[in-house]
Amino acid sequence: MKHLRFIIPSALFAVALLILASCNTHPAAPRTKAGFWERELGAVANAPLNPADAQKALNLKVNLIPEGKYGRRLFREMKPRYITIHSTQNPTGDAYAHAKALNRGALRGGVCGYLCWHFTVQEDTVIQHIPTSERGEHADFDGPGNRYSIGIEMCEHKGNDQLATLERTAKLAASLMYHHQIPVENIRAHYHWPRKGYSTPNKDCPHFLLENGQPGETWRWFVGRINRHYTRLVQFDEAVRQQKQQEEEARRRKQMVQWIWTRMGDLIGLG
Ligand SMILES: [Zn+2]
Repeated sequence: MKHLRFIIPSALFAVALLILASCNTHPAAPRTKAGFWERELGAVANAPLNPADAQKALNLKVNLIPEGKYGRRLFREMKPRYITIHSTQNPTGDAYAHAKALNRGALRGGVCGYLCWHFTVQEDTVIQHIPTSERGEHADFDGPGNRYSIGIEMCEHKGNDQLATLERTAKLAASLMYHHQIPVENIRAHYHWPRKGYSTPNKDCPHFLLENGQPGETWRWFVGRINRHYTRLVQFDEAVRQQKQQEEEARRRKQMVQWIWTRMGDLIGLG
């Protein structure tokens, strides 16, 4: 009995220590898809980023549909106000395959007879298909999604890293927000643009960012991530502005000191 009286409290104490230690070293596993992805990707750095460097890091390849052909058969100017996110739901085609298909008019549909969108993103590359100053055919026929938004397709082919694709898409969207002054509330899922005449007007697209076919927590996380990338670009401009202001103040101070010296020299000279 004497032994037990000693062993039981000691064992309880050891268990309590173990629980405490595990609490300290292993944070709770994320319970949601967004939480898991955020952990896998790591936090977006809270530091200014030169927009030119951000643009370079996208690995953007411009491979436009021939002017006046297929998706660009009609010249339709656009001043982009929104960014629309899609996913290809194509398990075999990478970004290059989609560029090829668009460039030979293989994807029929839309108002002009051919589908087209602005960018396709895969894990390591972005390919541009039409200028951001021209409208695409990717969302809602003659609706605002097509008339005013830049369309981005995320690849889903086998072997493509989904998280790397998501992150590259977030950075591309951030860069487009910055260059076209598009506010974060104008980042839209294809879902947000109803297709007139369809029994299911709001498409389940991009499906892996939606919950039960609707934008929810995962979509909000993704938009938040885009916004954090965008903030870095704006922070850079602010840092440059502050530096210029400091340089200007230093220049004025120097001028003032020089002026005082000259005046004093004049006075002494006069005396
Ligand atoms: Zn779509």
